[in-house]
Amino acid sequence: MIRENLEDVEKRIQAACDRAGRSRSEVTLIAVSKTKPVSMIEEAMAEGIIDFGENKPQELRDKYEVLPKNLRWHMIGNLQRNKVKYIIDKAVMIHSLGSPELAETIEKEAEKHQLVMPVLVEVNVAGEATKGGIRPEDTEAFVRAVSRYPHIRVKGLMTIAPIVEKPEDNRPVFRTLRNLAVDIARQNIDNVSMSELSMGMTGDFETAVEEGATYVRVGTGIFGERDYGMKEKTGESSIS
Ligand SMILES: *Cc1c(COP(=O)(O)O)cnc(C)c1O
Repeated sequence: MIRENLEDVEKRIQAACDRAGRSRSEVTLIAVSKTKPVSMIEEAMAEGIIDFGENKPQELRDKYEVLPKNLRWHMIGNLQRNKVKYIIDKAVMIHSLGSPELAETIEKEAEKHQLVMPVLVEVNVAGEATKGGIRPEDTEAFVRAVSRYPHIRVKGLMTIAPIVEKPEDNRPVFRTLRNLAVDIARQNIDNVSMSELSMGMTGDFETAVEEGATYVRVGTGIFGERDYGMKEKTGESSIS
């Protein structure tokens, strides 16, 4: 099933690249493996996938420990400050930097490990109250502030688009994120790159690719529906 799903997702990414006149090599598919067992990750690995996304720090750490070290782990979810330590030396990128406090913690932990952490700034484009992230109008100032941390490197922007009926409905969200990245790139802020755009999930990744995504984060479309079952705690935000 994972093999067929990956073939389908791959075809659709390629088609979206073709429509947009983009090269397939500009887009990295992140297989979002949250809640899914190691055996399913191994199945995806057999198909050549090395980029995986997790939204719980301990889960990322635990999977990192048991799987080959050539995998690239992306921290994509809401990250609590006291959990940065679990992933700081394991994730290749934090996609969800959405507060000054979190930046401060990432800086401290990265310094401890003498590494420079690549991050994306999460932007709450649609202004949804239930979601984290920086408001579009505050993003440039936030990026400037983060750029002063020696152990953090801003690589671009990320957004979690609303759940919509038609993927087309999220096109303005993706376009807004891209335009924001273009505007910020023009400021030539020291140590800041705006080359990466992490946007698009199972329901809308083709539209995101058409609008310039360099990372798409696809879970359900590869691994099937997630079953949170008894493990789900009330009040804990997770995208299912
Ligand atoms: C779970 C999750 C995804 C993947 O969602 P699907 O709809 O299953 O593809 C992408 N991004 C984030 C931040 C997530 O938490």
